[in-house]
Amino acid sequence: MKILVTGGAGYIGSHACKALKEKGYEVVVLDNLVYGHRGFVKWGVLEECDLSDRAAIEAVFKKHRPEAVMHFAAYAFVGESVENPSKYYYNNVAGSLNLFDVARLNGVRHVVFSSTCATYGIPNSVPIHEDHPQSPINPYGKTKLVIEQMLADYDTAYGMKSVSLRYFNAAGADPESDIGEDHNPETHLIPLVLDAASGRRPQITIFGIDYATADGTCVRDYIHVTDLADAHVKALEYLSKGGGTIALNLGNGKGYSVREVIESARQITGREVPVVEGSRRAGDPPGLVGSSDKAKEILGWRPVFGEIDKIVEHAWKWHKKRFGNYK
Ligand code: UDP
Repeated sequence: MKILVTGGAGYIGSHACKALKEKGYEVVVLDNLVYGHRGFVKWGVLEECDLSDRAAIEAVFKKHRPEAVMHFAAYAFVGESVENPSKYYYNNVAGSLNLFDVARLNGVRHVVFSSTCATYGIPNSVPIHEDHPQSPINPYGKTKLVIEQMLADYDTAYGMKSVSLRYFNAAGADPESDIGEDHNPETHLIPLVLDAASGRRPQITIFGIDYATADGTCVRDYIHVTDLADAHVKALEYLSKGGGTIALNLGNGKGYSVREVIESARQITGREVPVVEGSRRAGDPPGLVGSSDKAKEILGWRPVFGEIDKIVEHAWKWHKKRFGNYK
């Protein structure tokens, strides 16, 4: 079975390609390489294509005739989405519309979509369940919510079935270090902490130490990228078996504070992590932890690397592969 993976040269998309290939699927990556990396396309062919170019998407479908789509391609910088929503609505929303339309007109019945816990906004209660109101607080989250809604309408009207996977904090790297996190600019906590541990950055700034959490720092649900990738393959299997359109959270159900992540990095790397206590970052809720019970029940999925130390260990292994061994 041939799967088209948009954004397959990116962080989560490339891990999904590896997981698909290991399960015997044939992979075609569609990526504009704006943030994706040519070198991450190791488990399929690359079609360099932008989702704004409907004719080019059509040509890819005619050439490869994929039977299902995994849709990761999106811009995902929250701050930038506030400053330049146009870029986000065009790329994420209009781009997805082009993709879904070409897909349905070419007989694709199944889509697995990369959504986010950012569609919930500030939670009323944690852990967050899928029926929690979706009220995103930035354009990035809003674009992802619109796409989920578009997919629900495409099922009603055209019978195109989809699974929207709402990730919590994707983290870690392929255990074999074939691929990993490589964002430019890097804004995520774990790679920044590892940069501080290795001396690539002078320090890590903690964004806020006065939250109403156990140690005053924000709590997040870090989910290993390989576990995310596995859930995508399981979502595809669920659709192949006749499963209906659904949205599922993907987290490990456990929260870790910023200080706990830094402590884990100190232990895993055996190096000091210079820390600066800074002010809160706008738009950061104190705690974001998801319930993934529904994904476990419906997909039969279980996170394998649920502990923060495993996530940091694999991120550190990848960091050393990229930047040196820091003996
Ligand atoms: N964070 C931090 N310092 C940084 C980057 C992130 O204290 O330099 C905190 C951030 O406030 C949040 C957590 O680390 O509570 C995870 O942030 P990240 O940007 O990795 O993911 P997000 O939760 O924003 O999706």
